[in-house]
Amino acid sequence: MIRARSLKLSFFLFCVLSLSQGNSPAQEYSPSSLEMTPCVSRILKDRGRDDFPMEKMDAFALMDIRTGRILWIENPKFLSSFVFQAGSTFKLVTAYAALDSGKVDIHDIFDCEGNPKPAKILDGRKKGSGVKCWLESGHGPVDLMRALAYSCNLYFARLAHAVPARELVKAARLFGLGQSTCSDIPGEVSGSLPQHVDLDDVERFAIGQGRGVAVTGLGLLSMVAAIANDGVLLRPTVKPVSENKISERGFVGNSQALEFIRHAMVQASQFGTGSQQSLYELGLAGKTGTAQWKDVPWRTHGWYVGYWPMQRPAFAVVAFVFSGTGSHEAAGLAKEAVGRFMAAEISCFFNVDFGWKDR
Ligand SMILES: [Zn+2]
Repeated sequence: MIRARSLKLSFFLFCVLSLSQGNSPAQEYSPSSLEMTPCVSRILKDRGRDDFPMEKMDAFALMDIRTGRILWIENPKFLSSFVFQAGSTFKLVTAYAALDSGKVDIHDIFDCEGNPKPAKILDGRKKGSGVKCWLESGHGPVDLMRALAYSCNLYFARLAHAVPARELVKAARLFGLGQSTCSDIPGEVSGSLPQHVDLDDVERFAIGQGRGVAVTGLGLLSMVAAIANDGVLLRPTVKPVSENKISERGFVGNSQALEFIRHAMVQASQFGTGSQQSLYELGLAGKTGTAQWKDVPWRTHGWYVGYWPMQRPAFAVVAFVFSGTGSHEAAGLAKEAVGRFMAAEISCFFNVDFGWKDR
């Protein structure tokens, strides 16, 4: 029953999105022109959570990237009052710092060999930090864009030595990490960033596992929204924005770097770490993150941050899975949430009640 509805929903979304990108239908679906309507709100409130595949400590939020308005949030406490390692979502920051520094050739190819001995990672470096690539067999030759799409740890470990650590910390601050987003959700905490990154920790810092780094889900949501809206750091708000003026907290100024990162996030969905969940078909671009928090037994948190539609970004999403990985569970949760939001929007826009009616 659930699978049948899911297929029906996917097919409908595929048809509508195909129409909107091709010939002009009588009524074109244009997400960027839509506001959160009472109709969408009612559907999500009444039926959005039916059979939802999430656990008690999982969470997600969807946000309008032009206003900061949070359109749908589940488990807000986990996104606002708890801090975690950012995992590979932090590679977005590292990539920005590298691009902004002008010290990195984006066409420079690095050959990822998977799990070599640390001494082989970098020429001339005597002691390694133990960073390994998550893909044991290695990614082979990758440039910056593909390294971001595949989330290659070794490429980013190498970047950590090309860009001064202070620039990485500065970029993280620029994206608002380690600070409160000043949302209107009670009890929000700020997270943290280190004042200084030790040489033996810089590689782990670049891949989102550094000492002293702690982020909130809201912080990551605000960061990815700024990537999608070309640099404006917004204050997330659950109250209608008409009641709270749009509040800009900062500006991330290198537009070219942001455009590059958006392309990489599209590629992540197309053939990288987001491809297993077919996010490209949904028009969702993003970055996965898996943050280790326990050695024995091995445990990880899963993150997904993204935006949609790919062509004209209008919304951002963050998904957190307490016990899972970014590319599987968190990306899957984001897909489910975004899919249901889109279905509710389309349902209201075309005044049809597909899929929801038979429940
Ligand atoms: Zn790799």
